[in-house]
Amino acid sequence: VRLAFADQHGVIRGKTVVAEAFASAVKSGMAVTSTLLLKDTSHRTVFPVWTRDAGFGAGMLTGASDILLVPDPATFRVLPWSPHSAWILCDLFLKDGTPIPFSSRTILKDSVAKLAEREMALICGLEVEFYVYALEDERLTHAETGMPPAPPKTTLVSHGYQYLTESRYDALEDIMDELRRNAVALGMPVRSMEAEFGPSQCEFTFEPATALEHADTMLLFRSMVKAICARRGLHATFMCRPQVENGMASGWHLHQSVVHTRTGENLFMPGADGALTPAANGWIAGLLAHAQASCLLTTPTVNGYKRYQAFQLAPDRVQWGRDNKGAMIRGLMAPGDRASRIENRVAEPAANPYLYFASQILGGLDGIRAGREAPAPVENPYETDAKLLPKSLIAAVEAFEASDMLRAELGEDFVRYLAHIKRAEWERYLSVVSDWEQREYFSTF
Ligand code: GLU
Ligand code: MG
Ligand code: MG
Repeated sequence: VRLAFADQHGVIRGKTVVAEAFASAVKSGMAVTSTLLLKDTSHRTVFPVWTRDAGFGAGMLTGASDILLVPDPATFRVLPWSPHSAWILCDLFLKDGTPIPFSSRTILKDSVAKLAEREMALICGLEVEFYVYALEDERLTHAETGMPPAPPKTTLVSHGYQYLTESRYDALEDIMDELRRNAVALGMPVRSMEAEFGPSQCEFTFEPATALEHADTMLLFRSMVKAICARRGLHATFMCRPQVENGMASGWHLHQSVVHTRTGENLFMPGADGALTPAANGWIAGLLAHAQASCLLTTPTVNGYKRYQAFQLAPDRVQWGRDNKGAMIRGLMAPGDRASRIENRVAEPAANPYLYFASQILGGLDGIRAGREAPAPVENPYETDAKLLPKSLIAAVEAFEASDMLRAELGEDFVRYLAHIKRAEWERYLSVVSDWEQREYFSTF
């Protein structure tokens, strides 16, 4: 059984136990090392894992003492592509039983509980875009360098910008159908698949479920897609804009409605006049108010900021509109429509799902608690004086650190921790000279 947990990037890590040892792991937890022993955060591909000490000196060495993986039995699933193995998701604890404050699954559970105090729950529907390439040399990896691999050499699986065309879908069908069957066998509520705008770009959507269920879905889905593609000599990437030139970015749209936990009533469904309900009004206002500060959670990579461009079906600023796909938030609410909801288009598919969903709950809840009022919906989302989304990862780090709401809700330690590792990522990015700089300056100057 693979005891799996989401690291702070929303990437699965874990340890595998044999069946005989599983019962004891469920009862007492499984010890794992708390940190990677990193001397230096400047290495381009190093992602530090956990540390108890938020004081982060240059070293991040805190003795690497053990922490405990504690399985959540409700998440047990046999792996359809490897039927002698199963996944179970774990929460992270210190050995004395204290939840690890940096564990993103715990952060989401805490956020869900805060919303539940008001007898409300977030229901999410997912739209996830990603690219699938054919690998030219699948052995270009760790084995040769001892280091994490350079991006693999790939070619497109399907060509051309032919959104939704039958021929392109058919070219992708083999792998899409295999992905679908495996996702369904893992218990994921797949709704649709399509060939997206970009060459080799695909989309899966999922029926609505609770925030925790769907954060788990995304964590496992990304891993599953990459694993199954790799077994077929394909490479799937949830990186936001993998193509160097003229690429369509991949987004991760999150459909959201808030329901009453006792009655199940959709609190976003408007009355006959179509006006925003109090819950929708506060939720939208809160998401808008905290969008820039939350970007580090919705859009956590350097690359993700290259998606925020006008006229790409992606947002570049903070506003909402009614059924407008250029707006950050797309309102889909109508009298009598029990599926009334909003779609937030802000995030990239590489986001840590737990942190992304927590940011939506904390922002929306703050809007409701504070009685915030949503502004009027925009008609032309790229011609408003609305605030721009951060232009870069470092701008997002700064907005995140400056947020009183996030500091209060996530805790000072977590804010410092995430800002620290993301600042290190930005520094690594700045230290490298890009192809663009070469082309722009090498001959001219
Ligand atoms: N790829 C677009 C994005 O970056 C979305 C395209 C669509 O509307 O499906 O969000
Ligand atoms: Mg799409
Ligand atoms: Mg969408």
